[in-house]
Amino acid sequence: MFEKLVIANRGEIALRILRACRDMGIKTVAIHSEADRDLMHVGMADESVCIGPASSAQSYLNIPAIISAAEVTDATAIHPGYGFLSENAEFAEVVESSGFVFIGPKSDTIRLMGDKISAKRAMEAAGVPCVPGSIEPISDDMGRAKQIAQDIGYPVMVKAAGGGGGRGMRVVESESELAEAISLTRTEAGAAFNDDRLFMEKFLQAPRHVEFQVLADNYGNAIHLCERDCSMQRRNQKVIEEAPAFGITEEQRSFIGERITRACREIGYRGAGTFEFLYANGEFYFIEMNTRVQVEHPVTEMITGIDIVKQQLLIAAGEKLSFTQDDIKIRGHAIECRINAEHPYTFIPCPGKVTHFHCPGGPGIRVDTHLYNGYTVPPHYDSMIGKLLSIGHSREGAITRMKGALHEIVIEGITTNVPLLQDLMLDPVFVNAEHNIHYLETKLKE
Ligand code: ADP
Repeated sequence: MFEKLVIANRGEIALRILRACRDMGIKTVAIHSEADRDLMHVGMADESVCIGPASSAQSYLNIPAIISAAEVTDATAIHPGYGFLSENAEFAEVVESSGFVFIGPKSDTIRLMGDKISAKRAMEAAGVPCVPGSIEPISDDMGRAKQIAQDIGYPVMVKAAGGGGGRGMRVVESESELAEAISLTRTEAGAAFNDDRLFMEKFLQAPRHVEFQVLADNYGNAIHLCERDCSMQRRNQKVIEEAPAFGITEEQRSFIGERITRACREIGYRGAGTFEFLYANGEFYFIEMNTRVQVEHPVTEMITGIDIVKQQLLIAAGEKLSFTQDDIKIRGHAIECRINAEHPYTFIPCPGKVTHFHCPGGPGIRVDTHLYNGYTVPPHYDSMIGKLLSIGHSREGAITRMKGALHEIVIEGITTNVPLLQDLMLDPVFVNAEHNIHYLETKLKE
């Protein structure tokens, strides 16, 4: 096992990685920006290195600075967490070529799956059902683009091959909107992802977002840890996640599970990963794969009892998976609410000083957060400040516990989305599990 590991991230996930390392006897190095000296894990890590100014580009995205921090501290491995450089193939490549272990798949796999066009191609080849559409990159030939859209049937979605974080996609209702949508998305994609290739797929009107967690080792063993529903979204970003996904049968689960684990073997996948699907009319449609740990991984940990971050570390250290698909048993139902420092209804970020924080607890509650009394949420990064989780024997039981925890939590000094989450726990559409990915935005408009 690694002796010392660099945590190349911040906030709650940095703390989550630190805790996994502590359990496994791995020493930790926290890297941080000038704005993040007071982060909880920076104080807890064995060593810390300030790698640059507040701006992410100069710190958490600064590859040479992160590699230097690993070098000066004699670390042997680097965990990228989620966001930032976690799905950056170049980073994974530099980490490995500098002699460190990257906690994640090989850089080639990241590159393959980070490109939504090549990912879809690989999934189709492995028999994973995909959203109907075309994997032909959209050229400047508008005649051809119109033909592709017509063949798919409106409404279509124009998507950036390199897109991520809910950006770089546009719904097109009819042919008259197509040219402008292509041009806008292309400009956006070029600027945001440095890659202006686009493709088109069917826009599904009211799907759910259902994703499968996988683990794969270096020896051809791949298993899935069941699925999560992440349909409660705002601006294509998840707000509430749960596991298992309601209404998915054991038969559907093993059908998709069998295909994605086969896909893992075919592409030589290694580590933890997530296959994201849209789910409509009883059918699954692959949209993308995330080649990293996800924000919502704890709901899966709660229902399976498997520590996903620990598994990432074991796999990266060359261990074989110590369990098989048959060993995976689902116990109960878990829900995660993302706590964001933002206005609950406009989503405008509200950074600032937390004057008072009370953390909920009790049976079936888990809180993953880096908040503490007196902590100042800096304005430079994502607004997520923590995750509140509950587990119950049933979905209803998990909701009941979540209501209690949301009642108990106190975060004073900054505005958070807790009131929205409290509303949603009482919302009949959520309670009856009738929501799809558009529900929250429609509800907020009303
Ligand atoms: P990103 O990489 O930015 O996360 P995804 O492809 O995973 O992008 O899509 C993010 C979200 O956008 C999905 O969860 C879903 O809400 C919506 N979405 C993506 N593709 C489609 C589609 N074909 N039809 C309807 N909604 C879609």
